[in-house]
Amino acid sequence: MDKKRLIEKLREKGIKEEILKAIEKIDREDFVLERNLDEAYEDHPLSIGYGQTISQPYTVAFMLQELELKKGDKVLEIGTGSGWNAALISNIIGEKGKIYTVEIVDELAGKAKEKLKNYKNIIVFNGDASRGFVEYAPYDKIILTAAPPKIAEEFKEQLTDGGILLAPVGQYTQKLIKLTRNGNKFIEIERGDFIFVPLVSKTC
Ligand code: SAH
Repeated sequence: MDKKRLIEKLREKGIKEEILKAIEKIDREDFVLERNLDEAYEDHPLSIGYGQTISQPYTVAFMLQELELKKGDKVLEIGTGSGWNAALISNIIGEKGKIYTVEIVDELAGKAKEKLKNYKNIIVFNGDASRGFVEYAPYDKIILTAAPPKIAEEFKEQLTDGGILLAPVGQYTQKLIKLTRNGNKFIEIERGDFIFVPLVSKTC
């Protein structure tokens, strides 16, 4: 499949134009391993080494849509992986937005830093964000691309009022949870079943 066909397929599945535009603009082939170049636009996850994957395009597109990204948003991503998702978010939130993305595997963080160095609104950090990333909090949007067993309380405190957190939650299979902050109330809804790599934690 090529990029054009992938985009048509995502459109048929209900993905909106603003997300498709970002997928059109950012080449996924820049974020996959060389040996997988001919599969860059297949709608499935691919290994990026170190036991990790670049997520399936449909899953990424669906999550970005659920995140209700707006121009100028301040976003936290947990699990930079290949950096593809961060590049897409960067494109959608525009130059007034900012994305802080944290990766626990040193080598992947290093590679992503290099790949994303020309994106002015992305900062890549190497570390454990299993309790969020309090340094730059609060965030308008928080997206976890690795699955925790449950949503830690610390994440909620790192959301702005009206902010949205999206996380695949569960140990073996995951439910995608969308949590919206309304003052001190947190409204949680389920947005389907997915399979993600587990969130690794050094602290618990
Ligand atoms: N968003 C990625 C998909 C990454 S897969 C992409 O577009 O390619 C999930 C990533 O989360 C993996 O790279 C994994 O190493 C990372 N991860 C797991 N636990 C983490 C933690 N506690 N803090 C930061 N990153 C973590």
